[in-house]
Amino acid sequence: MNDKAPKKVRKSKAPKDKASETKTPKAKVSEATVSDKKKVLVLGGGFGGVYAAKALERLGRGKLDVELVNANNYFVFQPLLPEVAAASIHSADAVVPLRQLLRRVQVRQAEIMGIDFDAKKVIVVQGTRRIPVDLTYDELVLALGTSVDLKRFPGLPEHALTMKDLADAHRLRTHVIGCLETADVTDDPEVKQSLLTFVVVGGGFSGVETVAEMRELVRRALKYYPNIKPEEIRVYLIEYANRILPTFPADLAEYATRRLQIHGIEVLTGVGTKSATGTAVELNDGRIIPTSTIVATIGNGPHRLVETLDLDMHWARIKTDRYMRVPGRDNVWALGDAALIPLVDDPKEDPADYATQTAQFAVREGRQLAANIIAKLNGTEMKPFAYTSKGSLASLGMSKAVADVYGFKLSGTLAWLLWRGFYLSFLPGFAAKLRVGVTWLLNSVMPPNIVQVQSTPPATRYIHYRKGDRVFEPGMLIDGFYTVIRGAFRLTIDNPESGEHFEKVFEPGEHFGERVLLRSALRTGLVVALEDGLLLFIAQKDFTRFARAFPFLDNYFKDYIERTFGGADKSFAPGSTNSKTELETLP
Ligand SMILES: Cc1cc2nc3c(=O)[nH]c(=O)nc-3n(C[C@H](O)[C@H](O)[C@H](O)COP(=O)(O)OP(=O)(O)OC[C@H]3O[C@@H](n4cnc5c(N)ncnc54)[C@H](O)[C@@H]3O)c2cc1C
Repeated sequence: MNDKAPKKVRKSKAPKDKASETKTPKAKVSEATVSDKKKVLVLGGGFGGVYAAKALERLGRGKLDVELVNANNYFVFQPLLPEVAAASIHSADAVVPLRQLLRRVQVRQAEIMGIDFDAKKVIVVQGTRRIPVDLTYDELVLALGTSVDLKRFPGLPEHALTMKDLADAHRLRTHVIGCLETADVTDDPEVKQSLLTFVVVGGGFSGVETVAEMRELVRRALKYYPNIKPEEIRVYLIEYANRILPTFPADLAEYATRRLQIHGIEVLTGVGTKSATGTAVELNDGRIIPTSTIVATIGNGPHRLVETLDLDMHWARIKTDRYMRVPGRDNVWALGDAALIPLVDDPKEDPADYATQTAQFAVREGRQLAANIIAKLNGTEMKPFAYTSKGSLASLGMSKAVADVYGFKLSGTLAWLLWRGFYLSFLPGFAAKLRVGVTWLLNSVMPPNIVQVQSTPPATRYIHYRKGDRVFEPGMLIDGFYTVIRGAFRLTIDNPESGEHFEKVFEPGEHFGERVLLRSALRTGLVVALEDGLLLFIAQKDFTRFARAFPFLDNYFKDYIERTFGGADKSFAPGSTNSKTELETLP
């Protein structure tokens, strides 16, 4: 390896004083001169991007500079995410460092912010300084996957957990354990029932595997929660179509439904989700399921950045030709979940005429796309993408699975062993295989790990309420400040000693919760939603920081509270917002 090979000069606008954040990629082994080398930039380090970069490096060694840009410095093996959520494997076991996977490819951990196709450059931000850096390219590969889009279902974006990346899986596991912790100690039967009801929306294989694994985690953990009876647990799988697992033959889907039901999962098919709040999910047949846990595995929407690129899109994916080139954009290619790749010359409005959004396809697309880029640069013939699925596997928990492989249908424990064996072999890197294999073995004899690593919810967030829901009530610890975005909310305060009664309805643009907020106190009022509505919530600590930093806010609230609740002679008038603040000392 010739480490002294001259470096390719990049047109980067990065400032020179922060070498660590804007380092020029190392030159690679090369018999070619700098000017001969073409720069291929791969955006996205999932199945598509990684396998394309790997093949590009191998096929174009010495002739190509391959760089892969990804938001994280690791590759996520998405099929194992439900296992992470169920604590069957550690979070670190479902990921592989990109630098270990792609030893000869320049890996850049950065967020892609934009693409200027005319100038052939990609704008990224990296490191802590967040100064945009330009990366130039000769060939550009788009492998950014998709984004979760739940906008069609009011309340779902704010209240549903998703299952797309490592943080999601970790969050779900933490959340489920948190529900068990609280359910074990609460005296309120309604709260307990909501905490012990788990709803997964979407009956595709990620929804089925997620619900099965989540049920398994709860089942195994229950012996450590003596105040929770197994019959108090409710788990629902909701699917809009008339059956789950649409990519599987009907008899295997039926078997899967029966197995899930045996585990105590209620499978509701032919019914969709209408809306959600922090305390319930509403179905489109009018049913309302009170729950503290909604997991959405639906809503594959266009990638947020891709959507802004003015590319020809269909079904939320970038249209490509059979060679995976993006029409109308020279030197741009797309693959993986983000791309709509035809499998036939004259595709119809039929999903079967296009590559499916699975890892199985993305891996093959990556290899073919790399070969096509090399062919294009060499002036030889490119090959259209063609691949037939080898089948599908889905784990159902409790050591059962369904498999439809090479036309053979399997179900039960044998299918589950096949599932484990297949994913173990598919997992890239020997170390990752070994770690997952050992964890699976240990987990079959060890108790589940029910450690809950707490995560803080965002300080500012939207919360949906259904008519009749309580926002807060007397005796609750104060949490934050609320602004009404939609709907109407009634506050009532009763002082049993003085007999004083106060009532006010808050409408869009108005706010509440500040009266006792700036003191370390308990709530004295009751706020109820008079109709379905939306509130913007700001956590107490952040709100008090603002109030202390901007004197005009203190004056505003002083005046507002006096106008709204009356003067200091009223028992529910708290006095100055600032005077009693002892929540945080200034730095
Ligand atoms: C829970 C679950 C289970 C699944 N199980 C299976 C299975 O059993 N079998 C199967 O074949 N398929 C399965 N799939 C589908 C499979 O994982 C996807 O089809 C595959 O990951 C698609 O690969 P991709 O490279 O197109 O996208 P992704 O794997 O999503 O990769 C996209 C990459 O781009 C990066 N990125 C996105 N935006 C930016 C940005 N702005 N800046 C920087 N980086 C960015 C992301 O961080 C990510 O690394 C499953 C998916 C899920 C969610």
